[in-house]
Amino acid sequence: MQAKTKETIAAIEEKLTAKGERFTDARQSVMAALLEFDATTAKAYDIVEAMGNVKPMTVYRALDFLVAQGLAHRIESLNAYAPCVENHCAHKDSQYLICDKCEKVEELHSHAIDDFIAEQTAKDGFKISTKVIEIHGLCSSCQL
Ligand SMILES: [Zn+2]
Ligand SMILES: [Zn+2]
Ligand SMILES: [Zn+2]
Repeated sequence: MQAKTKETIAAIEEKLTAKGERFTDARQSVMAALLEFDATTAKAYDIVEAMGNVKPMTVYRALDFLVAQGLAHRIESLNAYAPCVENHCAHKDSQYLICDKCEKVEELHSHAIDDFIAEQTAKDGFKISTKVIEIHGLCSSCQL
């Protein structure tokens, strides 16, 4: 594990412990693997492979936990995950910009966009159950 990853993991552990959540070894290892994919997305099996000697179910459960805690994003259109240590209020309000070349994911987290959608759907009397805003394209470095 890289020094920077270790630091991040320790900071997360402190926060989770304060919330009364357990940051088990498996959860820590999966978070570390996500962080070390260098902000690009990782598929669950990439993580299983990176960790070696781990049951896929353990990785899936840890990923569910990390997503629930707001420590990872699930990118639906890629069927993949990206780490998030930004302390966003809630990821259901986030929008993602996905680079099709390097697979880097940027998070917009614009409340204005979310509020607009809420307003417009309420006008139509529509009740939202799931909302996924994933925008594909090329990031600024991949356009060079
Ligand atoms: Zn986030
Ligand atoms: Zn927010
Ligand atoms: Zn890119």
